[in-house]
Amino acid sequence: MEETRVHVGFDDTDSPFGLCTTYLATLILTELHRGGFHFADFPYLIRLNPNIPFKTRGNGAVSIHLENVNDIEALKDTIQHYLEKYALNHPKTDPTAVIYTGPLEQLKVLYHRALSDLVSPSLVKKLLDKNGGIILGGNKGRGIVGAAASIGAYKLEKYTYELLLYRSPDIKKRNPSIEEIILEIDKILRPLIFSNVDYRSGRILAVPHGPDPVAAGIRSLNPLVLTSISNRLAKLLECKQAVIYKTNQATNCHLNVVKSIADLRPYDAAIVRGVVAGKVQKLKGGHVIFKITHNNSQATCAVFRETGILSRVAYCLREGDEVEVGGGVQPRTKGLTINAEYIRVLSVKSATIIENPTCPKCGKRMESAGRGKGYRCKRCNYTDIHTTKIVKEVPRPLEPGLYLQSPSAYRHLSLPKEIIGSKPIPAKPFPEFFLCLMQP
Ligand code: ATP
Repeated sequence: MEETRVHVGFDDTDSPFGLCTTYLATLILTELHRGGFHFADFPYLIRLNPNIPFKTRGNGAVSIHLENVNDIEALKDTIQHYLEKYALNHPKTDPTAVIYTGPLEQLKVLYHRALSDLVSPSLVKKLLDKNGGIILGGNKGRGIVGAAASIGAYKLEKYTYELLLYRSPDIKKRNPSIEEIILEIDKILRPLIFSNVDYRSGRILAVPHGPDPVAAGIRSLNPLVLTSISNRLAKLLECKQAVIYKTNQATNCHLNVVKSIADLRPYDAAIVRGVVAGKVQKLKGGHVIFKITHNNSQATCAVFRETGILSRVAYCLREGDEVEVGGGVQPRTKGLTINAEYIRVLSVKSATIIENPTCPKCGKRMESAGRGKGYRCKRCNYTDIHTTKIVKEVPRPLEPGLYLQSPSAYRHLSLPKEIIGSKPIPAKPFPEFFLCLMQP
């Protein structure tokens, strides 16, 4: 039988257990590794458009890329087995897998669209049917979007890595010292690992809250740094498995489409450019609202208090400033609003104040002597009928440049400041690099 490269994508496996897509993928990865399958790359954790309304949490999907596969039927059986097991355990879930050996060009286009648009499942189904994709599970229909798009991410060009540690399903309580452990590791390894702690707010970002099989997720640009800590961390956190995913997280890849304001649609992830119009308002809760215009169209931008630094920057904007705003488009009663994830200030309009002239004799500020009568000094009585008000330029507290949210507001896809300009380290996809299985 001909040996071939096979891609498998998964999605829609959320359950009362929490974020399960990566957990299910981990069980399948383990089984495939034991079955002697060869990996063409690290497993992928792919985040898609964070603005779509029906996501459970971080809109994540997973894909696994295999090479030299000579028994697709055995692969299919393994995947089917796990999907059924999960569907049985959690009636709310609709686990979907796509097995794909066809050309990747159209799936690549789908991946890029799924990052920033709303994609119709029927369109994805047509595409898969045309190219011989096998769809497993997915009875309710939407999971194929994420499953197929995560395959189209191959081969990822913009990526980082994340080590996900899974606690045993029978351990329900969180390890009480987990935050301390993460903080200690972060202090030793930073900047080799990133976005694990927001030192300004003191929040540990690497530990999910809620009923999650993931005990912690550590991010890095170097997979071997993560490999070197996975075993010890898994032991400390009482985890059964740990997997290092190659991921599009922390790359801002969802914000790569510049749209004109008139073309914005609900749930887009988009970049718009325009000029600040009217007064910037601060609402009661600390959220900042401003409007931008471009080519006779106007959009409202919202910068939530939780974005920290970004909301303070937004409040410094003034009418006439030119900006680029990247974020998610949400339908509101008064029209579409862009929830800003970053603001690039392109130019700031100079600010002026108008003052009364100062007295040339004693230096005190003069006052009006009455309509058409010039100015008079109250201290020395000097009067000048010809002098007028002075227009003075004042410095703006805002300079052109890129402004990001505070780390505690980052979404999975947000590019953190600390890795701007850094590149990920490529590594061979040996299972001993990305899969850490603890002895029972
Ligand atoms: P989980 O980790 O359990 O997968 P989640 O937050 O990723 O949770 P899902 O339960 O997977 O959320 O729900 C997201 C659903 O939206 C999936 O069915 C996915 O296929 C679909 N989806 C993802 N991106 C898009 C998109 N751009 N357009 C349309 N549907 C999408």
